[in-house]
Amino acid sequence: MTESATPRRVLLKLSGEMFGGGQIGLAPDVVQRIAAEIAAAAARGVQIAIVVGGGNFFRGAELSQRGIDRARADYMGMLGTVMNCLALQDFLEQAGQSTRVQTAIAMGQVAENYIPLRAIRHMEKGRVVIFGAGAGMPYFSTDTVAVQRALETRCDEVLMGKNGVDGVYTADPNTDPNAKRLDTLTYSDALQRGLKVVDSTAFSLCMDNGVKMRVFGMGEPGNVTRALVGENIGTVVTA
Ligand code: UDP
Repeated sequence: MTESATPRRVLLKLSGEMFGGGQIGLAPDVVQRIAAEIAAAAARGVQIAIVVGGGNFFRGAELSQRGIDRARADYMGMLGTVMNCLALQDFLEQAGQSTRVQTAIAMGQVAENYIPLRAIRHMEKGRVVIFGAGAGMPYFSTDTVAVQRALETRCDEVLMGKNGVDGVYTADPNTDPNAKRLDTLTYSDALQRGLKVVDSTAFSLCMDNGVKMRVFGMGEPGNVTRALVGENIGTVVTA
């Protein structure tokens, strides 16, 4: 990247599954590895915003099956994402990368409020911005929030980091041996085929606003850095 080129700005979505290493709670070693990969890309001049999931703590839809009011369960889910944000912030700061956490639910002692123009300014100054508490609204998912934040903070691309899959497949590769990985895909195809790798609301928000999305696997070491700097890995989804 030359000095005068417009810096690449991307939105990375990290699922709660990653933070938990597939378990409930936090897997610090996994978060540390991902933080190091993010710091490596930031050191190369990529402006990075991150939306953090929370499924390793609570998913509102699942909790509501067990007798908790759905909206309240969703707020619990959103609060879970903030714990992941703080863990990621800590490992990024340990790796020498300056960060800010912004949350959609006000909690001034631990994070700034979500202020999009301030988030952009942080990125311009080389800080990684971590967005927590989803949209602050029940019935939404962090996939959808990732697209909304990318639009509002003018990111070039949404990068959906996945565990267990390295892109979008024609069917679930964990259950269907004939599933094939796609290099490219359109949003209308993804919606028509009912592909579940990303929420349908997130797909349609991208489709309606012409956002480019890349779905890639985080299992392979180095892949997070590769996706952040713009290497062609995983599946690209376009309008
Ligand atoms: N959530 C919500 N509104 C939002 C984002 C998240 O209600 O804008 C809640 C919802 O209950 C969700 C939970 O937070 O299940 C955790 O987020 P998500 O399931 O998207 O995390 P991930 O699947 O990425 O781990």
